[in-house]
This record gives sequence, C-alpha cells and structure tokens, in this order.
Amino acid sequence: MGRREIFAGNWKMFKTGKEAAGLVDELVNGTKTLKEGREVVIFPPAVYARELAAKCGGSAVAVGIQNMHYEKEGAFTGEISPSMVRDCGCRYILIGHSERRHVFGETDDSVNRKVKAAHENGLEPVVCVGELLEEREKGVTNAVIKKQTEKALNGITADMMKKTVIAYEPVWAIGTGKVATPEIAEEVHIYIRDVLTGLYGGTISASIPILYGGSVKPDNVAGLYAMENIDGFLVGGASLKADSFLDIINV
Ligand code: PGA
Repeated sequence: MGRREIFAGNWKMFKTGKEAAGLVDELVNGTKTLKEGREVVIFPPAVYARELAAKCGGSAVAVGIQNMHYEKEGAFTGEISPSMVRDCGCRYILIGHSERRHVFGETDDSVNRKVKAAHENGLEPVVCVGELLEEREKGVTNAVIKKQTEKALNGITADMMKKTVIAYEPVWAIGTGKVATPEIAEEVHIYIRDVLTGLYGGTISASIPILYGGSVKPDNVAGLYAMENIDGFLVGGASLKADSFLDIINV
C-alpha cells in the first residue's frame, strides 16, 4: 500500500519519571530493527517530554505531547504552547483525543485551531476522531466522523495535509477492552479516506496514514493490521509496558 505505518503509544496520565525513563530505554532497545516503513511514536506526559526526547535521539522512537494550546503565548495558566512542544524536541502532537473532547470540553473549533497551530510550528498532528456508543447505536457514526474530520481540517492546505495523521478511535472501544472488529474499523477507515478524497483528492487521501485506536492489544492487533486501510495504531493501556507495545509494533 506504500503508506507510512505509525505505531503510537498514548501514555495518558501514567508513570513516574523513573518508570518513564525505564520504559523508553526498553523501547529504544527493542526497536533497533523495525520492519520497513514502520515508525514508532510515544506520547508521554508533557513534563517528561524533553528528557525522553533527548533519550530517543538517534533511535527509531519519536516523541510527541498529548495536548497543547493553540495560542503562541499568553496568560493561559496550566497550558503549553506549540513552540514549547517543539522546543522540547517533539515532532508530534496528539489533537482531539476523545478524553480531551469528552472529559475536558475540547470542541471541533479548538481542534481545528490546534491542527493549524501544529503546522505553523512544524509539528505533525495526529488528529483523533471517533463516535460515542449512542451515536453508533443511532446509526450516525459516519455523520459524526465526517463532521469531526471536516471541521478539524478546515483551512488545512494540501501541503499541511500531507503531514497530518488521522486516528480513528471509537469512544466505546477506548479503555473498555471492547475492540472494534477489523471489519467495523476498516469500514470507518474507508469512510474517512472517502471524506479526505472529497477534501483533497484521491492521491493525497491515499497517502494519509489512518491509525486505529481503542483496546488494541497484542492478541487482537494482527486482524486489525491485516485491513487494507488501517495504517498503524494509537495504543493506550498496552503501550505502558515494553513487552506488549513491542509485540504490537512487531505485528
Ligand atoms: P486504549 O486507549 O488502548 O487503552 O483503549 C487508546 C487511546 O485512548 O488512545
């Protein structure tokens, strides 16, 4: 298929500094030989990012941050800016994770501003979209995905899009142990690619990595990976241990 494949770990609000450093050492060691075309990214808590990015220098592991503000600077207590993310040695930024949307009130508008700010600061955004269980049950999954995707990408040029990653994370599958079947996930990935084709044309759409996230584990990853339009994973719980994350990376 020729697309980049990205294996990303979202650590959420877990790990002490010492545990974080230990996990990174194991990941750096465990990714010395990666299958061709695969990239590994970790999203640790922001306070560890600079130290971990330095540790990952020259390795196959890239570092990103889980959230940021879209403003350049200012009186925004508790927030970090896009240039600070960059300054820590990070290349990636996670934007619009369902916990940001549903626990912290992130909106489609703020997601869009953050995606723009990421590109203005040379960061590669991993933009998360996904439906709630009740939205799936009501049969509005595609409508939700289309709205989230189009709003997130409003004003994003084709050149910016080429450096943007999408992650499909059905909210009902995150941290619940209820993984989407490969067929359900693939159906939505195809739909996202259709939405991207409508916005940017077929060539760009076909080149964008679309990751799946939501209860990905070593024992269910192979079926998902076999799907044509699933180009990698955004892994929460199973990325907190080197063994399980490496099993996923080496699927
Ligand atoms: P999970 O989390 O793998 O623990 O379900 C995925 C995510 O939130 O990115």
